[in-house]
Amino acid sequence: MNETGLSEEKIRNILNDSKGQDLKYERVLSSMCTYPHRIAVQAHMQFIESNMGDFGLFRGTYNLEKEILSSIGDLLHKADAVGYMTTGGTESNIQAIRSMRNLFLQSEKYQKSLKSGQKYVRPNLVVPESAHFSFDKVSDILDVELRKASLDDELKVSVESVKSLIDENTIGLVAIAGSTEFGQVDPIKALSDIAVEKNIFMHVDAAFGGFVLPFLKKSYEFDFKLPGVTSIAIDPHKMGLSTIPAGILLFRDFHHLESLKADTPYLTVSTQYTLTGTRSGAAVAATYAVINHLGKEGYRKTVSRCMELTSYLLDKLAEINVYPLIEPLMNVVALEIPKCDIVRSRLAKEFNWQVSITQNPHGLRLVIMPHVSFEMIDSFVSDLKKVLDSLE
Ligand SMILES: *Cc1c(COP(=O)(O)O)cnc(C)c1O
Repeated sequence: MNETGLSEEKIRNILNDSKGQDLKYERVLSSMCTYPHRIAVQAHMQFIESNMGDFGLFRGTYNLEKEILSSIGDLLHKADAVGYMTTGGTESNIQAIRSMRNLFLQSEKYQKSLKSGQKYVRPNLVVPESAHFSFDKVSDILDVELRKASLDDELKVSVESVKSLIDENTIGLVAIAGSTEFGQVDPIKALSDIAVEKNIFMHVDAAFGGFVLPFLKKSYEFDFKLPGVTSIAIDPHKMGLSTIPAGILLFRDFHHLESLKADTPYLTVSTQYTLTGTRSGAAVAATYAVINHLGKEGYRKTVSRCMELTSYLLDKLAEINVYPLIEPLMNVVALEIPKCDIVRSRLAKEFNWQVSITQNPHGLRLVIMPHVSFEMIDSFVSDLKKVLDSLE
């Protein structure tokens, strides 16, 4: 740190320079984030100092959070769901599984087995092979064994594989409503039935899909309407067009949230259920602003434009003989392309396009976010053709 500070002007120049080095979303086809809506940006700045870690001081922001939770709860068919605004899908997933694990370890059945002299066995969690990498962090942090269920040929988790991995130390299941790599939706109804039958918890990771699925023409069952679903992660900072960091974790019942309770003796409020302490009130205000400004109609429009762009992209790609690995359900497209790693790096180096890849099966991955335009797609497909032609 410098002994004496730099002038505001000097700092502004440095920041402008750094901002100039950041990529513009107009070249980005790999991210699940996008430009936040301007009303979210304004609200974020207005509430910039608000700390939800000590919400007794920020009652106004706290009330906004309560309203967000009930409107998103309502969207997910449980207006009285409980939870809080997280920093994103990762924190929501960690906390959802932490609650499952805590309740499992406290359960009578588990306590009895310990008393009868049974050795400690690491609890396990059954997740689809396509689960987001945050579940590897979950496993490490919570000391829970991850059991990865295989996928069928449409890249949905195989219900048979999930069933075969469940045993008496299984704390719960994870289903994905919009997988990060393929945008696929697991057979959530069938998984919910299993969770009910086996009396285990079930978390739905709708970090990306939560702000897409309810607004598509086709309807999917993935939320609290299904009786087995005990928690859901949904991210306003992805397709919700809010600012970063904005995630939401919702539980069906209060006792799930309660299992995360910590005492906070020196704050204005005496308990906390969150993972982080200090927490952004700005992202809360931003989320309130954008969801109330857009409403269902606004999100339907946004999603429908992204889907139009997605089918336009597929048409253009078909003209150059490039096809998707699965028919996209949402605005995530995985393409069957030879030598995708080389293609990816050449697209970046020669044409300044950021695309991503899928692991298994290996493919080129594109996310068609609201910042994408028809012109962007035309120019991308023409650049992709140049790279593919020169490959042969
Ligand atoms: C993006 C994503 C996450 C992680 O969310 P972050 O906000 O990046 O922490 C988790 N699950 C799914 C399905 C995602 O798409």
